[in-house]
Amino acid sequence: MTISERDKNYLWHPLTQHKTHPENLAITTASGAVFTDEHGKQYVDGIASWYTCMYGHCNPYITKKLQDQLNVLDHVIFSGLTHEPAVRLSEMLIGILPEGQEKLFFSDNGSTAVEVAIKMSLQYHFNQSSKRNTIIAFEDGFHGDTFGAMSVSGLSVYNGPFEDFFLNVKRIPVPDGTNNKEVLAKFRSLLETEAVASFIFEPLVQGAAGMKMYDAEGLEALMVLAREFGVLNIADEVMTGFGKTGTLFATDQLQVKPDMICLSKALTAGMLPMAVTSCSSDVYQAFYSRDLGKGFFHGHTYTANPLACTAAIAGIELLLSEEFQGHIQRIKSMHLDFDKRIKNLPGVRATRQLGVIYALDLDVEMERYGDLRQNLYNYFMSRGAFLRPLGNTIYILAPYTTTKAQMEVLYTAIEGVLEKVPVAG
Ligand SMILES: *Cc1c(COP(=O)(O)O)cnc(C)c1O
Repeated sequence: MTISERDKNYLWHPLTQHKTHPENLAITTASGAVFTDEHGKQYVDGIASWYTCMYGHCNPYITKKLQDQLNVLDHVIFSGLTHEPAVRLSEMLIGILPEGQEKLFFSDNGSTAVEVAIKMSLQYHFNQSSKRNTIIAFEDGFHGDTFGAMSVSGLSVYNGPFEDFFLNVKRIPVPDGTNNKEVLAKFRSLLETEAVASFIFEPLVQGAAGMKMYDAEGLEALMVLAREFGVLNIADEVMTGFGKTGTLFATDQLQVKPDMICLSKALTAGMLPMAVTSCSSDVYQAFYSRDLGKGFFHGHTYTANPLACTAAIAGIELLLSEEFQGHIQRIKSMHLDFDKRIKNLPGVRATRQLGVIYALDLDVEMERYGDLRQNLYNYFMSRGAFLRPLGNTIYILAPYTTTKAQMEVLYTAIEGVLEKVPVAG
């Protein structure tokens, strides 16, 4: 039996309706921007396995450091104990994070990074004898699948069944450059009428919403107003972090800096699950007290796992290297050239790019997980291009190491689709 056949016996996959999608492709090896299935067919990982392995799969620089760490220290509890990989990583992260981030709290994945930020923001006010029970978020945001993270995400088929159990959340549209005034007015009226603890957002690009890019100045205006009301700004950089937007972090491109930042995905170079929530010293000080009850009593068993920290350190070293900064420029300019090739073709409604993130909207209506989407996905796979359309949006967010030839596999597969799209109107 193949691995894919055996898979069907006991496994339940994420974000999968098994009745309509029984097949899961078995991958046996991965290297650089390519992975290989059990029949030997190769695919270019056009979305860096959900934007994690940005330095390429099995990057030898990182795997070597991991192998060395494996022989030294595997794991210890992070309550009462500490270790070099966590300390070193904290020094590196504070060195590169936007101004104002002073303390780091570890957890396991993007959702928990968001949970931690939400809980910190609620307790920050609680500890200062001000009960604030509301969080403001964007309508189309995505922040993860645990309850707090689901609550602050946009409403959809994913989190709909749990709506009755959500935290108190108010949602506003993203400022897109044409509606900034209205969005700001709505934001102000919420700040005036609700006890708002924090404002959470994906800075500049909403990943799961279809790489939706929005107005930086509009976001800055919201952050400034939030601050006037003592509301903490939480930047969820789980997707945007570590170079993808062309700067190390998307918030590097903002004049106003957040109070907290959530990191995961590329943090550990796609090797191991880990997350970080960073915060300002103002936030930290609200917990720092002789009063035990003012502490932040949140903790996960695998907090600051030394192996994950080691992968993160190696990843950041690569990110900061001239070689990888060159790769980022190289991919940005390849996308620019590709954009010229396709943006005026029938079938293309709109294109956009920020850093190495490239997205295009097909000029068709499409259900998020409908047949057309499945046909597109199957076509891409037949061409060896691992791309996962989000609604009618096709996006590329490939590893920085993707070669020109590998990028062409993605580009020509997309061009192949454009030839087939039933043009609307
Ligand atoms: C993926 C993602 C999350 C959730 O991360 P998980 O590791 O899947 O829990 C949160 N926020 C953003 C912006 C993401 O892209």
